[in-house]
Amino acid sequence: MQWLIDFLMLFLPSNCLVCGKRLHAPGVILCFICEMKMPRTGFGDRDNNPVSKIFWGRVRVRAGTSLFRFEKGSAYQALLHDLKYRGNQKAGLYLGRLLGQELKNTSFADCDLMVPVPLHRRKLKQRGYNQSELIARGASDITGIPIGSNLIRRTGYQRSQTTMNRQERFENMALAFSLCDDVPDLDDKKILIIDDIITTGATLEACSQVLLSHFKCMVYIATVSYA
Ligand SMILES: [Zn+2]
Repeated sequence: MQWLIDFLMLFLPSNCLVCGKRLHAPGVILCFICEMKMPRTGFGDRDNNPVSKIFWGRVRVRAGTSLFRFEKGSAYQALLHDLKYRGNQKAGLYLGRLLGQELKNTSFADCDLMVPVPLHRRKLKQRGYNQSELIARGASDITGIPIGSNLIRRTGYQRSQTTMNRQERFENMALAFSLCDDVPDLDDKKILIIDDIITTGATLEACSQVLLSHFKCMVYIATVSYA
């Protein structure tokens, strides 16, 4: 039944999440004007862009990129807020498609596999979906890069991170992910890790580390927003 609900949800009338204007096209969350005015990073696959630089000296991420700049208090914050806390799954698919269009004609497009950052089992049950997986689904529709699910799982991460300092967060995160059982050989593969937002990069660093410690693979990173 869930697929039917997902499908029907695309056709429910909705309003632009930024300006509130009534939308008529199915599956859309922004009006044309607000999509045009989105504060895009323009990073694409530019060498040494700020997202790639986050990982320098930390983990061998080949390149990173983000679709738009996350500014606190900006109306575009609503996009991620709706996706993560208000059950707006359509927002994930939509933002994923925008990200896919951004990646389509870049070096990211020849990745072999997309890996959405996993949620902890408990969190997944609570939210009902993994927002990164929805983004990956949207991006996969546009780029044709298949999604590799069940490669990494989130294990630790019992403590809330809000009271931790930077160092503690990194240590907490490093223990948070592990490789799933029966993962196929990923040697020589170009793997694109997908997440909704990048801030310190701790989550994405930990995910990359898991893949790189088991395989001779190449890791790339793409997120919807960059804070
Ligand atoms: Zn609008």
